[in-house]
Amino acid sequence: MPHPIDRSTIQPYVDGEPGAFYYARYDHPTGVEAERALGKLDGGRALLFASGSAASTAAALGLVGPGKTVALAEGCYYGTPLLLRELERWGLRLVEFDQRGAPPAGADLVWLEAPSNPFLTFPDMEAAGSYPAPVLVDATASTPELFRPLEHGADVVLHSATKYLGGHHDVLLGALVFRNDETFERVKRLRGLTGAIAAPDSAWLLLRGLATLQVRVERQSATALDLARRLSGHPHVEHVRYPGLGDELAARWMEGGFGGLLSFDVAGGREAARRVETSTRLIMNATSLGGADSVLETRYRWEGDRVPDNLVRLSVGLEDVEALWADLEQALPYA
Ligand code: PLP
Repeated sequence: MPHPIDRSTIQPYVDGEPGAFYYARYDHPTGVEAERALGKLDGGRALLFASGSAASTAAALGLVGPGKTVALAEGCYYGTPLLLRELERWGLRLVEFDQRGAPPAGADLVWLEAPSNPFLTFPDMEAAGSYPAPVLVDATASTPELFRPLEHGADVVLHSATKYLGGHHDVLLGALVFRNDETFERVKRLRGLTGAIAAPDSAWLLLRGLATLQVRVERQSATALDLARRLSGHPHVEHVRYPGLGDELAARWMEGGFGGLLSFDVAGGREAARRVETSTRLIMNATSLGGADSVLETRYRWEGDRVPDNLVRLSVGLEDVEALWADLEQALPYA
C-alpha cells in the first residue's frame, strides 16, 4: 500500500498540549509507520536512525557506560570496533572474541553479527542466549526474512537499513529493534537528545524497501548460493566464504536462505584481486552491499591487515545469475 510522507518538523498541539507528535527530532508520523512495519518483521519495538552507525552509537551509549565491557565478535563490520574504540576514551572496555563459541565471562554487553561482514561467520546463538548480559545482534546481512535474533535469545537487533532493508543503494538509514520496553524508552530518549533520528523521506524509503524485501532476499540468496558454489570450483579462487557452504551454525538459525553477501580470496594475491575488481563490467566496483545492483571490492583498502589482501567481497544484486557468472568468469582469468 502506498504511504504518505509527512515532512513537517512540527505538529499542532492538541488542546494546548503536545500530542503524540510535536517535534520531528523525537518522532514523526512517517518514521513511526516505518518503525511499526520493521518491528513487526523482527518481533520487537523498532527505532529508526540516520544511519546504521548512528544506531550503533545509540546502542553503545544506551546499553553500556564507563567501566563496562563490550564483548564484540571478531571479524565483524570494521566500523564497529573503530567506533567502540573511540568510546574507550570515555571508559568503555572492548574485548573481541570468536562468535562461533561462547562470549568471554564478565562482559556487560555481547555484540554479535549475523553473518559477519566480510568474514561471513555466524554466531552461536545458543551460547549467546544463555549469557547473563544483554545480547545485541547486528543482522544487517541476514535481514528479518532469514533470521530474527529476538526469537533466539537476543535483546536488541541492529540493522544498517542502508543495505537490504532500503535495498536500492539510495538511502542511508539505521535501526534498532528491542525486546524490552525500558531499554527501548531509554534509547529513544537518547535518540531525541542526540538528534540521530532518520528523516521522513528516509523512513518512507524504508517502507518502499520493505514491500519487496522478501522477494529480493529470496532471489539474492539463491543467486549468491549458486555463485558461491561455482566460485568454489574456480581455479583462480583460493577460498570462498558463504554461510550456505556448510556452516552448521548458519544452517541451524537461518531460514529460507543464506543471504546475498559472500567473499572470496583470489589466487595470486593482492594484485590479482585488484585486477579482478577492476575487470568486472556488470558488477560495479563500489563499496556497500544489499542493493538491487551487484557490487564488489577488495576490502584491504578499508580494513588493512584485518583482512587478507586478496579478499574480494561481493554483494549479489537482482541481475540474472548467468550474466553475473559470465562477468566473474571473464574477470577471473586476469588474476
Ligand atoms: N553494520 C554492518 C554489518 C555494516 O555492513 C555497516 C555498513 O557497511 C554498518 C553496520 C554501518 O551502517 P551505515 O553505513 O548505514 O552507517
